[in-house]
Amino acid sequence: MSEVMTIGEILVEVMAKNVGQTFEKTGEFIGPFPSGAPAIFIDQVAKTGSSCAIVSKVGNDGFGQMNINRLKQDGVNVQYIESIKDRTTGIAFVTYKDNRDRDFIFTMKDSAVACISQDDVREEMFEGCKFLHIMGCSAFDEKMILIFRKAISIAKTKNIKISFDPNIRKEIMNDRKIKDFIFFTLENCDVFLPGEEELKWITGIEDEEKAAHSVLNQNVRCVVVKRGNRGCRVYEQHSYFDVDPYPVNEIDPTGAGDCFAGTFISLLNQGKSILEAVKYANASGAYAVLKKGPMEGTAKLEELEEFIKAKDKEAKPTYC
Ligand code: ATP
Ligand code: MG
Repeated sequence: MSEVMTIGEILVEVMAKNVGQTFEKTGEFIGPFPSGAPAIFIDQVAKTGSSCAIVSKVGNDGFGQMNINRLKQDGVNVQYIESIKDRTTGIAFVTYKDNRDRDFIFTMKDSAVACISQDDVREEMFEGCKFLHIMGCSAFDEKMILIFRKAISIAKTKNIKISFDPNIRKEIMNDRKIKDFIFFTLENCDVFLPGEEELKWITGIEDEEKAAHSVLNQNVRCVVVKRGNRGCRVYEQHSYFDVDPYPVNEIDPTGAGDCFAGTFISLLNQGKSILEAVKYANASGAYAVLKKGPMEGTAKLEELEEFIKAKDKEAKPTYC
């Protein structure tokens, strides 16, 4: 039984060594690192103490094994990850621009993860499940969209809460069908976790407060807007509050949003309030950017507690 479930890509990431490096020119890359947004999310859920599983496929290769080993070691139920022959594990290449933006090249559509089918999502898997987490980046083709629609309809019949991180990358989110799927998921979700730009793009509303409230009108319980190094803002039906960022020296932003969401959903699953869960989620996102490598910045609850304690101490003025 797994209380938090997700479906989607498990990848390795190979990243540019230097900021400003581009794909058009030969350069040095480092990796492979365990990756895939849903994989990072579920790793973080496990590390903060919730039972959880991911439905996915990897190739029967070293990249796949590396990921399975890491997820298993961190406490994820790996029984729904299948290693398949004739396809390789997906790969993401990433370069970093001077302005904090990133460029990606994904091989997902040709990799093992593209072999996930509707038959891999079965009702009995959701026995005892309390949260289903959906990520827009995983809806990379029509087949994946149908798989998510099936999972969402199972979740609805079982009263499972749906959390939704659109995680839109310009490289894979330019399709009308994907946009329709985003709206469908939004209508059915309980917790929505967009970035600032994603919220505007999805709602078509420039003003963030109005945009968030237009979504809340559709019965979404809360909208948490992730703001990178500016922390986050939480909108509820009649109010909102800001959570200041923990000041850190950012090394690698990849995975911050997934760690944030993983901690948030894991703590909600454990019965914590939105206020308490978002405090730890905010710390989890800040902690994640301190490490190079997408999944390297996941953290146990004790590590987040230590981090928060140290940051609170730093922030307090000292008197002679
Ligand atoms: P991802 O690349 O994983 O998709 P995202 O765009 O979804 O990331 P971000 O807004 O970058 O998510 O980060 C999520 C959260 O992590 C932020 O809302 C914030 O709480 C925290 N965070 C991210 N970057 C920093 C930073 N440099 N300093 C402090 N906190 C950060
Ligand atoms: Mg994101």
